[in-house]
Amino acid sequence: MSSVVSYLLLGGNLGDRVAYLQQAQQVLAATAGAIVAASAYYETAAWGVEDQPAFLNQVLAVRTALPAAELLAACLATEQQAGRERRLRWGARTLDVDILFYGQEIINTPTLTVPHPALPARRFALVPLAELAPGLVHPQLHQTVAELLAHCPDPLEVTRVKS
Ligand code: AMP
Repeated sequence: MSSVVSYLLLGGNLGDRVAYLQQAQQVLAATAGAIVAASAYYETAAWGVEDQPAFLNQVLAVRTALPAAELLAACLATEQQAGRERRLRWGARTLDVDILFYGQEIINTPTLTVPHPALPARRFALVPLAELAPGLVHPQLHQTVAELLAHCPDPLEVTRVKS
């Protein structure tokens, strides 16, 4: 069976953030595929809505045999298991799971855009991704993750957290 490596961004800013990330990793390993690499945890001030707790983010590399739409369903199910409530755009959440890359594929459907369109503008995604895959080339922008990070305009500081 063919498989691809997909990079997922996990993040949350409510409750026991580390526990939610650990639980998410277990759920994804059971539903999406083998976790082949996991970044450290990184803390970032909340983006968009600033009067809320800081986010803790992590990037996972998962080797998956799932088609992209099914991988997205697995990501959304993982969010549901963490009890996420969708009340406010950019608001507080226990767990968010985004697909950053799905191999080198470019996907544009009503429910899925890959590579994630916000990636070049989000330091909190690029920093953990660069820890795992600095030389990975963005299939549309033709820049490596390290280059995207070097040119990222996002001013929010991203701090590595001991784990
Ligand atoms: P949000 O929780 O605000 O990040 O939005 C989640 C929704 O964004 C999902 O239900 C997807 O249909 C859609 N979406 C589009 N592209 C992506 C992507 N690359 N990763 C995750 N969700 C995506």
